Amino acid sequence: MGLPICDVCLKSGILCQGCEEKLRKGEVSKLEYEISKILYRIGKGKIGFKKAIDMGDVVVIITKKDEVGKLIGKGGKIVKRIARAIGKKVRVVGENKDLRSVAEDVLAPATISGINIVYTVDGKKKFKIRVAKEDSSRIPGDLNNLNEIIQKLTGKKTTIVVDEA
Ligand SMILES: [Zn+2]
Repeated sequence: MGLPICDVCLKSGILCQGCEEKLRKGEVSKLEYEISKILYRIGKGKIGFKKAIDMGDVVVIITKKDEVGKLIGKGGKIVKRIARAIGKKVRVVGENKDLRSVAEDVLAPATISGINIVYTVDGKKKFKIRVAKEDSSRIPGDLNNLNEIIQKLTGKKTTIVVDEA
């Protein structure tokens, strides 16, 4: 997977017409440009991503499912460098609409103990994503934030809960 900005631009630091157009139209955000520059530098053109979503304190970077590990880096090395450079927390999620798979990426290194479907009073479907109590300290951030990320990526109503004992 490549980067949203072309190699020529990233190498020269001067935007070509095509990339400038993408930025102007908002097809590529300033944040995505920043992340592209960082990844080009440390990944030597071998690490790409599809898009980045700014969620306030957290930036979600979406890449191909099988390239999540590469973008995170050994022991989170690459993600940490991006986080330091942009001054926000970073989560890497594989491009996928499947709730379980998205939730697993968003909540890693905590693991999901189960997902239940619950119905709200007005009969709407909602998904309860459960994390085992002993794993709760590994949840990477505020539950509300993480929940918002999962909802945004899957379009499903969710709520994350920590299992009681
Ligand atoms: Zn370009």
